[in-house]
Amino acid sequence: MSTFKLTMQVRTGGFTGPRADPADIERALDDALDLLPLQRVIIGWAPEPGIYKQTAAQLRARGVEVYLWLPVFSEVGVLRSCSPVLDTTGQRAAPYQLDATESFDFYCPTDPDNIQAILSIFDQYFDPTDFDGVFLDKIRYPSFANGAFGCFCPRCQAIFDAAGLSFNGHNWQDFFEIRTKIISDALTTICAGFRAKGLSIGLDVFAPFLTDSVGQDIPTLSTLADFIKPMMYARTNAPAGLPFELDALDQAMNITHDQEEYTNLDFCAKQVAWMKAVCACPVYPGFEVNRIQGVADTDPEYIKGCLTAYKDADGVVASWNLLDMPREHLEALKLAERL
Ligand SMILES: [Zn+2]
Repeated sequence: MSTFKLTMQVRTGGFTGPRADPADIERALDDALDLLPLQRVIIGWAPEPGIYKQTAAQLRARGVEVYLWLPVFSEVGVLRSCSPVLDTTGQRAAPYQLDATESFDFYCPTDPDNIQAILSIFDQYFDPTDFDGVFLDKIRYPSFANGAFGCFCPRCQAIFDAAGLSFNGHNWQDFFEIRTKIISDALTTICAGFRAKGLSIGLDVFAPFLTDSVGQDIPTLSTLADFIKPMMYARTNAPAGLPFELDALDQAMNITHDQEEYTNLDFCAKQVAWMKAVCACPVYPGFEVNRIQGVADTDPEYIKGCLTAYKDADGVVASWNLLDMPREHLEALKLAERL
C-alpha cells in the first residue's frame, strides 16, 4: 500500500446561494471511493447540517477522514457583521465574484470580531461530531486580483504607525512582514479555537512565490496545522490560479512575469519541494482535477503530469470540486496508487 495520500475536495455551495444536491454528492463520493484510495475528504461550506451528517456516515464507514472546508477572512460577512478591508483611500475593496456562490469579499484580519466570526459561525451552523477536522481557506489578505493589497482601516493603520511604517510604496518588505505577522497571529487564535473543539486543522495557502502579496508565512502557518495545501493551480484563470494572480500582480506593479516560467510543472514541483523542507507538517499540493470551461481548462494529461511532478510530496489534494470532475479525470488520478 502506497504511503502517498489522496485527499478529495467537494464543494457543497457558499454560505448563501445554490447548494449541491445531497443525492449527487453521495453518488459522486461512492463512485470516487470505488475508484480511488481516498484518505480524506474536504467538504464545505453550505450551512446545511444534513449534508454533513450523511457524508460523515458514508465516509467513516469506509475509513475516510472528513474535514469541513471553511472560509476565514472572506464570505463570513454574509452571516456575521464583519468589518471589510479598506484600501488606501478608505474605500471598501470591490469583491471579485467567481460565481453565484463565491464572492471573494475580504474582511480585516486585525478586527477581533472578524477573528471570532468563523468560530461562531461553526458553532451556530455545524456539528463538530460530523468532522475530524476543519480545512481553513481564505486565510489571507485580498490579492492584487481584488484590486487591493492589504487593509488600511484605522486599526491597521495604527499598527503600521506603531511599527514606524509610513507606507509610501517603497518599503514593501517591512510592510509585508507586518502583514504576515497579522495573519499568523490571527490564525494562531483561530486554530486554537478549533483545536479546543477537538478538531484537526488543514490550511489552504497560495503557491509560495505568491504568499508575500497576501500575508502568508508558510513555515509559521505550518506549525499550526496537521497538513498544509499550497494551491498549485497552474491552469486556473480565477483567484489563487497561478496565471490569474500573476497577471494581476504584473498589472498592479507594472512588471512582466514570464507566465510559462511560473506555471510549468517543474517550477511548481520545486515550490512544493521547498515547502516540504521548511514546513512542520505534511505538505499536500492541490491541483485542479475539476474541469470548468474558461476557469480551469484541465485534461487527463495535466492531472498525470501533476501527480508525477508532486510524487515526492506527502500526498496531493484533488481540487477543488469532485462534482465538476469528469470520469476520465478521476481515472487519471489512479496513477496516485503507484506513487
Ligand atoms: Zn484593517
